[in-house]
Amino acid sequence: MPRDWDAEIDRWTERFRSIPDPPEPFAVAVREGWAPAARAELAAEAGDYVRTHDGFMAQLRSAGWDLVRFDARPAGCGHCGRYAGKAFSLTGERGLPEPPPLPMCPACRHTLNPLTPYFMQSMGLSMDDLTDEAVPYRDDPEPG
Ligand SMILES: [Zn+2]
Repeated sequence: MPRDWDAEIDRWTERFRSIPDPPEPFAVAVREGWAPAARAELAAEAGDYVRTHDGFMAQLRSAGWDLVRFDARPAGCGHCGRYAGKAFSLTGERGLPEPPPLPMCPACRHTLNPLTPYFMQSMGLSMDDLTDEAVPYRDDPEPG
């Protein structure tokens, strides 16, 4: 089921009136309304991104990979930022939540990346640490 970017852009434009740090182009749209070209460009970019991201997740799943980490880009918004550095499970096992659908908001370009035993070791992280600090995805506008 392809995502309805027009509907999502409308919904998120309303949400970003009360969420800290709205990303561009939402910040401009909240102040001035949508320019049709900016809106069409955002929808096209979001569509490209979801195809790339879903392809990558499919590769990880077919390789039997389970643990991923949400890596937030610095220009993230107040909605997506709450998941920065959090761990997710592609299978929903191991007491970790399943990853959010990316992009969450249509503008942010965060990534999910394989969370390796080497990374966990280098950060001194155990599975218990990951599950204790897990943040299940919630599709609602509450910041923080
Ligand atoms: Zn965002």
